[in-house]
Amino acid sequence: MSRLDARASTMPIMVPNLPTPYPDELLYSLIARSAVYVGYWNAKPFLRALYQGVTKPACPDLPGSLERLVAASGGAWGTDARSIALEHTLLPYYTYFLSAPQREAAVGHLLAGTGHLHMALGISASGVRPMEYFRLCPLCMERDIRELGETYWRRHHHLPGVFVCAEHGERLLETEVPFRPVRRYEHVYAQPEFLKRAKVLRPPCDRPEVLLEIARRSRRLLEGSPARGRFDYRAVMAQYGFARRYGAPARFREAVESVLPRPFLGAMFTELGPDGFPYWVDAARRKPKGAMHPLKHVLVQLVLDSVAEPSASSSKSRRPELRGKSLQPELRAQAAALAKEGLSTRAIATRLGCDWKTADRLIKPIRLPARIPPRKTGSRDREAWLEHCRKHPGATKTELRRMAKSLYMRLYRDDREWLLAHGPKRPKREPKLRVNWHERDMELARAVACEADRLADLEPPVRITQTRILAALRMASTFYRNKAKLPRTAEALAARRESIEAFQIRRLRAVMQASDERDKDWLMLRQARINVGRLVDKGASLVAAAREGLPCS
Ligand SMILES: [Zn+2]
Repeated sequence: MSRLDARASTMPIMVPNLPTPYPDELLYSLIARSAVYVGYWNAKPFLRALYQGVTKPACPDLPGSLERLVAASGGAWGTDARSIALEHTLLPYYTYFLSAPQREAAVGHLLAGTGHLHMALGISASGVRPMEYFRLCPLCMERDIRELGETYWRRHHHLPGVFVCAEHGERLLETEVPFRPVRRYEHVYAQPEFLKRAKVLRPPCDRPEVLLEIARRSRRLLEGSPARGRFDYRAVMAQYGFARRYGAPARFREAVESVLPRPFLGAMFTELGPDGFPYWVDAARRKPKGAMHPLKHVLVQLVLDSVAEPSASSSKSRRPELRGKSLQPELRAQAAALAKEGLSTRAIATRLGCDWKTADRLIKPIRLPARIPPRKTGSRDREAWLEHCRKHPGATKTELRRMAKSLYMRLYRDDREWLLAHGPKRPKREPKLRVNWHERDMELARAVACEADRLADLEPPVRITQTRILAALRMASTFYRNKAKLPRTAEALAARRESIEAFQIRRLRAVMQASDERDKDWLMLRQARINVGRLVDKGASLVAAAREGLPCS
């Protein structure tokens, strides 16, 4: 490193017209612009000039050998290698959730190494759909052209899972410039011309606020100070009922799908399970094994934040409490504080556990209803109404209103109490016919007897049961609901229902009558379809009871 430093300090500045990097500009973009500034449309000869003969392949997200590159630029970019790594590559995004030593190792890799950081950081194996083409936001570009006279490739437009500009919420346009350079040294300058053939990104997600939230949270990883330690969601998952409980995986999937529709997940991830969910959805609920791709962290956190309250009191069940309370000063203060933090209306609604509309009213200034000065209707309207009522005796209030709409409206608006007191009275409703339960009980008891007789005559025989009788009469629910009012029916049912033994004896007796009792007992039992193997006395008492015509004990 000291050798490089020495060379940088002693080397004359070869390319004095180098531009300084713009905020959030990819190093790739800076190199492309630099080449254009010094008069090359192709970056390769420029890079050769920088590296004095050696060229480095283009890498838009995680370029290596930064110290060498910056040293070769002779400090003309006005920044050092470390700042380039942190402010002009996607390194902060990819290392946000790593431990401090891991992060430092990755930075070192970018500064001095040339190794495969994509492998080391697990990006290649993450199952996250790789970026295909460079993107532009039409609004960012318009402003760039106006203020800078040119535009550039921004880091936050090129984060996985990001489809809208985090700044404008505008859907990004995908150019035809491949993000993985086809030619090794190609650095394509962001020309406004590209917009003509660019396509609007249309992810299968119809909730713009979700797309914007993903974009904003992803950009925060580029800018914010990194989190400490490994991310373990198990405690939060358990709190929301997404772990350590029966049905937890399904509940979590449901929560994921309520924010991120499955087709949308399919647009972000390549490795999907048979049910359309990426495999990491289950892994996120468990003990973390190794690093998880930042996009997965962003999505898990988004889903968990959308589940505002623990499952015991879900946000939905809390909603009615806050409905219509948008004037409460305490709530308004809370909402204002959240809005000041930069939360969207939907996020505020989620935090407060209220509906989006309530949150919207909470953060907007209170609108006072326009007061219409009460007008005193003259006594003429009152007289007209009374006359109207007199002319149409027997008409209901609705009928009267339809006949004299404007008169009614005037009185309703200005003289409501009087109007409601003067008019046809609502006719009293006839009470519903009362059920004569005694009569119904007698009727039903007779029907039960008839039905039992009918069942007794059926061939092949069926057992006469309470359930069967009531089902045939379609009276089961009436009977069970009004059992106390139907004593005779209950008696009839008790008298006619058959025990299993009684049914067996009835069958046996039918067989006996058919064969004049000449057959052997075992044969008659078999013909009556009685399984003697189950009976202690092999059916002897049944045969005896059938002969006697009496139920057995
Ligand atoms: Zn933008």
